[in-house]
Amino acid sequence: MGGTEQKYVTEAFDTNWVAPLGPNVDGFETDISDYLSNQGGIHTAALTSGTAALHLALKILEIGAGDVVMVQSFTFCGTTNPISYQGAELVFIDSETDTWNMCPNALQEALEAYKHKSVKAIMPVHLYGMPAKMVDIQNIAAQYGVPVIEDAAEALGSTYKTQKCGTFGEMAALSFNGNKTITTGGGGAILTNNLELAKHAKHLTTTARMRHAWEFRHDEIGYNYRMSNIVAGIGRGQMEVLDERVAQRRANNQRYREFFAGVDGVTFQTEPDADFFSNYWLTAILIDPELSGGISREDVRLALDAENIESRPLWKPMHMQPVYEGTK
Ligand SMILES: *Cc1c(COP(=O)(O)O)cnc(C)c1O
Repeated sequence: MGGTEQKYVTEAFDTNWVAPLGPNVDGFETDISDYLSNQGGIHTAALTSGTAALHLALKILEIGAGDVVMVQSFTFCGTTNPISYQGAELVFIDSETDTWNMCPNALQEALEAYKHKSVKAIMPVHLYGMPAKMVDIQNIAAQYGVPVIEDAAEALGSTYKTQKCGTFGEMAALSFNGNKTITTGGGGAILTNNLELAKHAKHLTTTARMRHAWEFRHDEIGYNYRMSNIVAGIGRGQMEVLDERVAQRRANNQRYREFFAGVDGVTFQTEPDADFFSNYWLTAILIDPELSGGISREDVRLALDAENIESRPLWKPMHMQPVYEGTK
């Protein structure tokens, strides 16, 4: 925590705003929108999780059974679960070696192969904070007229060509889960630069109750996905230290680089050039036992663990998960 979170939470108690709306929710959303773009135009709705944000994005784009969603395979299940919630078909896209994120060429091939199918969304991920090649991905998506949903759950504070991650897609998701760069203890946000989509998002996440309707009239099947005013208070405090947290993560990354410098067989996930700025949410390395003198990933993990340093394997790609067996 940064220090001011408790002040906002106390304010919520003192004013009895203990509900899934209130000044902290409004304030947190404004803080995020302002952070992401100083020119305005980014609309934010704070939600209960990043997974909820991605689910909502798919829902708003009316993606369901019979539709195809092309998604980065190398990711966390929070990216892919919502596609399954909606009953859509997943097509997994391989990663490229520069960023470890969705390969634009593989995406183009897949879109070509599926051009007679109902491809309704493309979901790249900024893995461990590293921006995906968003301009290429968006240009290809535009050729096929398919909207991009950007999973920026791990990438708050990262930029690509000086533009903040979370502002590229038709819609994007952030996560404030306990392990992310900043946290509300559990939470997320949906982002869009489209005012109509933003209004629809807020409507659907407040059980789709019609405005000024004291009688509970619903015009759609909605969700109870809004963030509580207490949790948003933590978020407001955390936004004040976001830049500091990014600097700390990047310093950790630098420290590991120095630590492993000169060690054969270790490759870091690295910004390919000056267009990429990663928050380095997690520092990620590949270990090649053939070059490291037989030292394996597990050897390194156990050695770090013995020093009370947590590490773990990278995400297991979704096409290798038992639950997605048989998916293309
Ligand atoms: C954390 C995460 C999510 C989901 O966010 P939650 O807030 O945990 O639901 C989605 N995608 C990626 C890549 C994540 O790391």
